[in-house]
Amino acid sequence: MKFELPPLPYPKEALEPHISARTVEVHYESHHRGYLTKLEKAISGTPDAARTLEDIIRSSEGSVFNNAAQVWNHTFYWMSMKRGGGGEPRGTLGDELKTAFGSIQAFQEAFVREAVQLFGSGYLWLISQDDGTSLELRPMKDADNPLISGEQPLLCIDLWEHAYYLDYQSGREKYVRGVLAELANWEFADANLAAARATAAGDSTKKRRSSPSRQRP
Ligand code: MN
Repeated sequence: MKFELPPLPYPKEALEPHISARTVEVHYESHHRGYLTKLEKAISGTPDAARTLEDIIRSSEGSVFNNAAQVWNHTFYWMSMKRGGGGEPRGTLGDELKTAFGSIQAFQEAFVREAVQLFGSGYLWLISQDDGTSLELRPMKDADNPLISGEQPLLCIDLWEHAYYLDYQSGREKYVRGVLAELANWEFADANLAAARATAAGDSTKKRRSSPSRQRP
């Protein structure tokens, strides 16, 4: 097996009562693992078999893209939650969210609104722009993710019905509010923001050093 399914970062009952152990069981063992199985079957014996998951996502389309992205997206989704999470994001993340949205409350309202408004299946991503300037909420359809737009993902929520149907049926808003208020792993998002800022700073240093147009005659 080329790719391993990363273990869940917590026991399956850790997200209760907001997400049941049964939902985590089906979502992880059936859906997440299912995408991996389909990906491995599709790329076996092809050049993609020698690529990293991220490279496959950036270079493929169709069912190879869909399954590769879904493997990556679900790993990111599990990391985006933890028992005892939620509440107000603090630190650098909290400060930048206030700058971008006006207030934490305005950010939380936008998060729920965007998640509820996404038609059909997909994810809501909190992203940092690739130039390292600002945070945005990015609803994306199906398996699409910020790797293909060159933006840095900080946190995501899975909005496919299989993420909440067993617990809430069609009540997506209740699921989203529960994740946001009680499970969102803001430390994970803050660490991703720090990494994104470090990458953006490194890139601009590299560009300054290598750009001949900046040299004075
Ligand atoms: Mn899912």
